[in-house]
Amino acid sequence: MVEIRSVHKSFGSVEVLRGIDLEIAAGRVTVVLGPSGSGKSTLLRTINHLEKVDRGWISVDGALVGYRKSGDKLYELREREILKQRTGIGFVFQNFNLFPHLTVLENLVEAPLAVQRRPRKEAEATARRLLTRVGLAEKADAYPRQLSGGQQQRVAIARALALEPKLLLFDEPTSALDPELVGEVLDVIKDLAHQGTTMIVVTHEIGFAREVADTVVFMDGGRIVEQGPPAQVLDRPRHERTRSFLSKVL
Ligand code: ATP
Ligand code: MG
Repeated sequence: MVEIRSVHKSFGSVEVLRGIDLEIAAGRVTVVLGPSGSGKSTLLRTINHLEKVDRGWISVDGALVGYRKSGDKLYELREREILKQRTGIGFVFQNFNLFPHLTVLENLVEAPLAVQRRPRKEAEATARRLLTRVGLAEKADAYPRQLSGGQQQRVAIARALALEPKLLLFDEPTSALDPELVGEVLDVIKDLAHQGTTMIVVTHEIGFAREVADTVVFMDGGRIVEQGPPAQVLDRPRHERTRSFLSKVL
């Protein structure tokens, strides 16, 4: 489903991703852990081409991200094609990133109308179904500022789902929330996991990783230090770097 091969990425003279290789099967949940600055967000951003890779390649559901192959040459996709491709890859950010001037319902239908050109009636019906799924049916006409952080994040998840993505990326979806609101957002993500959504979740929530992840990836210094099932990486890490990181977050 997701294939990441020898991905390198630098900002100026700083190499932030130093050769990332990762494969994710359809329906699997991958949790990415690692210290601040290890390249987790950059990796997620390369997967939907918010950042271009310098070397290597990524494919999602059989399609190269950001490029088209013709013979043995690669051509970068046009902006429109990139936007279209991105609709297949949902992204949920730490800070929700809802449109503040739009109601909850309008936040959910904006991309389906503008990018997918779906009929409004159909888009609204889908949006209401998704709001029910995240427990916010009664908030359709509210504005983001009228919601708690946890509610805003659940709206952001519903908005990502509205495009029926093949893959969902979460970048620290609960780290901007007050502790008592973390659970409700993790519950929604767990629910999606149990329904077989393919996802990559950057988080420091070790309990969530243990319960939900098929694979835990530990990154440090732009590399994957180790990866494996949670019972291995979290309970019997092979590398000293992983052990010392876990001892700080557990
Ligand atoms: P955190 O846990 O703090 O979110 P992270 O693992 O997500 O960290 P990244 O955000 O991927 O780390 O950043 C990796 C490195 O790349 C950092 O040193 C950061 O300063 C640098 N970096 C990220 N984005 C840019 C950018 N657009 N321009 C320059 N440097 C950047
Ligand atoms: Mg980050």
